[in-house]
Amino acid sequence: MADWLTVAPGIHQRRYDPFDISVVAIEGGDGLLLVDTRAQPSEAEQLAADIAARFARPVRWVVNTHAHFDHTFGNQVFGPGSTTDAAIYGHARIAAHFAEFEEPRLAAWRADPAREPDRQWHDVELTPPTHPIDRRVELDLGDRIVELRPQPPAHTDTDLVLFVPDERVWLLGDLIEESGPVMYGSGSFPLGWPGVLDALADEMQPSDRVVPGHGRVVDRSFVDRQAAGLRVIADRFRSAHDAGLTAAEALAAHADWSIPVDGLVGAVERAYLALDEA
Ligand SMILES: [Zn+2]
Repeated sequence: MADWLTVAPGIHQRRYDPFDISVVAIEGGDGLLLVDTRAQPSEAEQLAADIAARFARPVRWVVNTHAHFDHTFGNQVFGPGSTTDAAIYGHARIAAHFAEFEEPRLAAWRADPAREPDRQWHDVELTPPTHPIDRRVELDLGDRIVELRPQPPAHTDTDLVLFVPDERVWLLGDLIEESGPVMYGSGSFPLGWPGVLDALADEMQPSDRVVPGHGRVVDRSFVDRQAAGLRVIADRFRSAHDAGLTAAEALAAHADWSIPVDGLVGAVERAYLALDEA
């Protein structure tokens, strides 16, 4: 995970540890658009230095693919009050998601630093988008347009897809993951997720390049496969709920889950919550 990988002319992915997080820089005539900011300010400072070493243009825009900490906790290094002072775009619900999930997560980590001694949670100042959006926005980088497309609830209720029409490159955030199993993290919507991916895949051409939130660049067929896998899981949750099984029984009813069953405990609870409400 050494350096920038050029996905298409002027579109570069870099994969950072920890978490194998995808950061993407998109070059435009008026500056650089940066997608996601890593998991803490010191990592974002390193990212800023890596950008300065590689690109002649300043970061003018930051876009968050969703609210999760590994994508947003570096925002403060690029946002208002920083030397970069970039505009931060993200889903309109990020601030609410921060309040519900990331703030308590941060408080728990701060209260018990021994849980993650290598992390610097005290330095994090939650920095939501300066430009929260709830509908499609076309960002003009000077000589190219980047579409920002807030999505219906799926991986979270804050997912936002970027599409660069001139090179047909898609950035899907954690709606897909390549280097590990998909993550039903905090605030996931297991039942709606496959349909969101299906709708995106419908708009993709076979040769389009697709950048996941974690892992190497993939294509539409990968998106189709991940959607199918998520649909099997969603269908099993629905059937189990219909049959009156508890959430634990729903998981115990199958031995061949496509992702480790530990990763499904939160998912089945979220699905049951939605089904109970329906
Ligand atoms: Zn995530």
